[in-house]
Amino acid sequence: MAGKTVKKIVLEEHFSTPEMSKYATDVVKTIDDKFLDYVKPRLMDMNGVRLEEMDKYGIDMAVLSVTSPGVQLEPDAAAAVKSAKHINDYLAEEIAKHPTRFAGFAHLALQDGKAAADELERCVKQLGMKGALINGHTNGEYLDDQKFWPMWERAEELGVPVYLHPADSPTMPSNEAGYPEMAGPGWQWGSETAGHVLRMIYGGVFDRFPKTTVVLGHMGETLPFILWRLDSRYAMLKHTNPLKLKPSEYIKRNIMVTTAGSFSDAPLMCTMLALGADRIMFSIDYPYEETSQAVEFIDNAPLSDEDREKICYGNVTRLLKL
Ligand code: MN
Repeated sequence: MAGKTVKKIVLEEHFSTPEMSKYATDVVKTIDDKFLDYVKPRLMDMNGVRLEEMDKYGIDMAVLSVTSPGVQLEPDAAAAVKSAKHINDYLAEEIAKHPTRFAGFAHLALQDGKAAADELERCVKQLGMKGALINGHTNGEYLDDQKFWPMWERAEELGVPVYLHPADSPTMPSNEAGYPEMAGPGWQWGSETAGHVLRMIYGGVFDRFPKTTVVLGHMGETLPFILWRLDSRYAMLKHTNPLKLKPSEYIKRNIMVTTAGSFSDAPLMCTMLALGADRIMFSIDYPYEETSQAVEFIDNAPLSDEDREKICYGNVTRLLKL
């Protein structure tokens, strides 16, 4: 069925700078050279082809973020803090040139939990950013760790979401060794990120900060598919810290998902049934995915007009207070 063309706001859309690209040397090893040649200039460009594509395919606004991994791989905490501030100032300057077309997520140096919380507050209150996007673990440490809780506390106080974006696992999982097809976004990122969220659930982050919203890309990194099984097996496993709710109840309450990099009706329908239309937001994953394909998908997905409007702009407008 042909959908109705509606207003569109997207929120997993990436950029980079020469300063940030030095952290991506490992992540690019498994990616085809031709693809890298295509995406690199698009990551560095802020208002050339990026805006042309948005105009061409009817994207009204894009919320921009530093591409994975960024400063979270910086071993020196002070250098990471300084570098994050620098990139956030740069992003704010670029947004100011096109304030109706671009918004931003803060880049945070979690190497210093308190500094990350302060930088989030500076970005939201002074630079007008809409939350943060965090590229997975920070030098192998995950966000269930209590050293990171000041950031969750501040995000909850500020009423802004944290987008948890994938990054490479800290070490290659043994069942992926020898198969570059399983590295990065093809497989590893999904299991790495879903596992990260489960660590946060079982670590009590959402019991302690119940108003937190975490946004996941890629149609929820497989979590919508396994809600029932998570609950069923939770009941039979040992618990170090028993939860107040079932695992699925945190995912339904604290997680919102985007369509970034997942332009297919089957996972969309699963996510609609698992989480509901109020918790899904259209996104592209520019420049790694084609805007034309993303728009074709969402305009023609088997959705009611009301649900399509929620997914294309209504939910994100409410979440980010746009
Ligand atoms: Mn992405």
